[in-house]
Amino acid sequence: MLAYGGGWLDRAAALRGDAEWLAGRLADPVSVVLPLWRDRCLVDTAGPVRLTGEHASRVRAAAEETVFLGLDGDVAVFAADLSALGERAAVELAAATRAVDVRTLVGRLDPAGAAVQAYARGLLLWHRQQRYCGACGARAVAGGGGHMRTCGGGECGRLWFPRIEPAVIVLVEAPGGTGRCLLARHAGAAEGGYSTLAGFVEVGESLEDAVRRELAEEAGVTVTDVVYQGSQAWPFPAGLMAGFRAVAVSEEVRVDGVELLEARWFSRAELRARVAAGRPLGRVDSIDHRLLGDWLAEG
Ligand SMILES: [Zn+2]
Repeated sequence: MLAYGGGWLDRAAALRGDAEWLAGRLADPVSVVLPLWRDRCLVDTAGPVRLTGEHASRVRAAAEETVFLGLDGDVAVFAADLSALGERAAVELAAATRAVDVRTLVGRLDPAGAAVQAYARGLLLWHRQQRYCGACGARAVAGGGGHMRTCGGGECGRLWFPRIEPAVIVLVEAPGGTGRCLLARHAGAAEGGYSTLAGFVEVGESLEDAVRRELAEEAGVTVTDVVYQGSQAWPFPAGLMAGFRAVAVSEEVRVDGVELLEARWFSRAELRARVAAGRPLGRVDSIDHRLLGDWLAEG
């Protein structure tokens, strides 16, 4: 399973808009509150802190936003945003030992645990960035258990929903079945750090259109046979990664020199040699790693 996917929570969309039901879950001493601070999980030696009862109530009282994540069996799970506090105050209030990025925990958390933390991080960040109505500028108020905000500006009353920013990530094969794929060194990547090509979907594009445009713009490569492989939640801050394979019509490559510094074709043997030398295949928590691993396993 890919990291940040397979969260086990029942999001209970039919219940979370019921304010009375939600108030009952918040008052229930068995309900769980996950505290976060500025996109970071608050952890102790056992992992991310899970608070219940009186302690959970105290944390909620100090939080600028508390959102309903879902039901774990019969138990409601919430996330509380302590970002308005200083780091030390947030850590102490949560009885945690430190605040860390979920991405640094991913090897130690089970995928579902990482998924819930990433979900909480993405949703709380959206609230901090959507405090005001984007149409009239009035204060917007959270509702639906934290899955929407409503403009409080009188006649406007617009509804705002959490934003997801889709991106495509593509493993491009060389033409003619030569068993080679295109990897690129991105601006800012370490010397010798190669990965698959990726980019955001623009307004008015399908995912497949975005694949074709990104490859043409960044690497000067025309591709066909664009085939979907799978997707990954990537709420860092608001992404959704859609993985593809495509086949280039020629091996000619012309990088833009801005986003990509270099792109070239790698055989499976070369990639295996890199792995054997201790170089990771893409980012280990990313679909990039999966795309490359699947491709390597085929030949
Ligand atoms: Zn408004």
